[in-house]
Amino acid sequence: MAGLSIAYNLREQNITLFDKSWRPGGRVSTRIHDNYCFDHGAHYLSVNHSVLQLKELINKLNIANEIEIDFATNFLKNKKTKKKIIIGKNGMNSIPKSIFENISLNNYFNTKIIKIEKNKQGAYTLFSEKEEFENFDYVLICIPYLQSKELSSNLIDFSKIIYEPSYDPIHTIMLSYKSKNNINLSGGLYLHRDVSFFMNQNLKFENLIDECWVLNMSSEYTKTNIDIDDKTLEKYAQTIFENAFKIKNEIRFIKSHRWLYAQTNISYNSLSKKYWINSKDNKIFLTGDWVLGKSLSDAWSAGEKLSHYIKNLLI
Ligand SMILES: Cc1cc2nc3c(=O)[nH]c(=O)nc-3n(C[C@H](O)[C@H](O)[C@H](O)COP(=O)(O)OP(=O)(O)OC[C@H]3O[C@@H](n4cnc5c(N)ncnc54)[C@H](O)[C@@H]3O)c2cc1C
Repeated sequence: MAGLSIAYNLREQNITLFDKSWRPGGRVSTRIHDNYCFDHGAHYLSVNHSVLQLKELINKLNIANEIEIDFATNFLKNKKTKKKIIIGKNGMNSIPKSIFENISLNNYFNTKIIKIEKNKQGAYTLFSEKEEFENFDYVLICIPYLQSKELSSNLIDFSKIIYEPSYDPIHTIMLSYKSKNNINLSGGLYLHRDVSFFMNQNLKFENLIDECWVLNMSSEYTKTNIDIDDKTLEKYAQTIFENAFKIKNEIRFIKSHRWLYAQTNISYNSLSKKYWINSKDNKIFLTGDWVLGKSLSDAWSAGEKLSHYIKNLLI
C-alpha cells in the first residue's frame, strides 16, 4: 500500500514498480479457491481511519463496502458491540489490485531486488537474481524496515539511525467447515490467551458456500513458537476455536501462514518524529507502514507524505 500510494501520488513521473510477489498488495492478501476464500493478511479498513485521500480513491473506484458486524471487543470477557468496517469487494486484495490497475506504470512482478548500486554518473542500478535495471534517479524502498535496511546498508549509514522501529510476527490460520456452525459473531478480539483475533470470511465473499474463518495467533504466542511445525499449530488453533464455540462439525480445510513482519510494534515516527529515512544524496528513501503505525492507512499515509516531499525535490 505504501508503494501504491507513491505510484498514485507521483503518477505524472516515470515510475517503475518492482515487487518480489506475483501480485500487488503485499500484506493485503486474499486466497480464493473453489470452496474457500480467506483474507489472511489485512482484514478490514477502520471506518474512522483518517486518510482522506485513500477514502476518496476507494469511493471513486467503487471497490469497497462499508458494513456493520457483530464484533466481540473482548470475547473472554463477553464484551460485544456493533462495529462498522470497510472491506474490499471480493476480498481485501481487490483494493490494492484495483488501485494498481488504475495507475499506468512500468511494472516487474516476481522480481525480488537484492542489490542497489550507484554508478559513476550518480544514477542507480537495481539488481534481481536474473536481471539488472539501470538509470534510476530515485529509489523509494517500501518494504518492512529490517528488509529495507538490509537492502540499502551500502547506501545509507545506519549507525546514524538511533531510533529503530520494531515488528511483531503473527501466525494466521485459515480454516473452513462444510456444514454451518451456529456462531452469532462475525469476528472479535481475545478469543483465547493465544488467539488474539478471529473473523468470519462469508460476510466478505458472497458466493462462498463453506463456512470460512481466519484466526490470528497472538504476537506473544507467535514469538515463542516461531518455528512450530504447521500441523501442531493448526491442530492447536482449531481446538481453541472449536472449544470456544462448541463446534462439533468436521473441518474441510486448514492452513497456517507465518507473517514475520506482520505488525509494527513501535513506529519510527513515534521515536524520531521523522517521516522517512533517506540517503545522504537524498536519492534513496525508505518508507512503509512502520513509519507511522501498523495499518493500511498508515502505509498509505507514509507513502503520501514521502511523495509530497519528492514532488518538491523535483520542482
Ligand atoms: C495478519 C495481518 C493482519 C492485519 N490486519 C490488518 C487490518 O485488519 N487492518 C489494517 O489496516 N491493517 C492490517 N494489517 C497491516 C497491513 O496489512 C499493513 O500495515 C500494510 O499492508 C503494510 O503495507 P506496506 O506497503 O507498508 O508493506 P507490505 O504490505 O509488506 O508491502 C511490501 C511489498 O514489498 C514487496 N517486497 C519486499 N521485499 C522486496 C524486495 N526485496 N524486492 C521487491 N519487492 C519486495 C512485498 O512483496 C510487498 O508487496 C495486518 C497485517 C497482517 C500481517
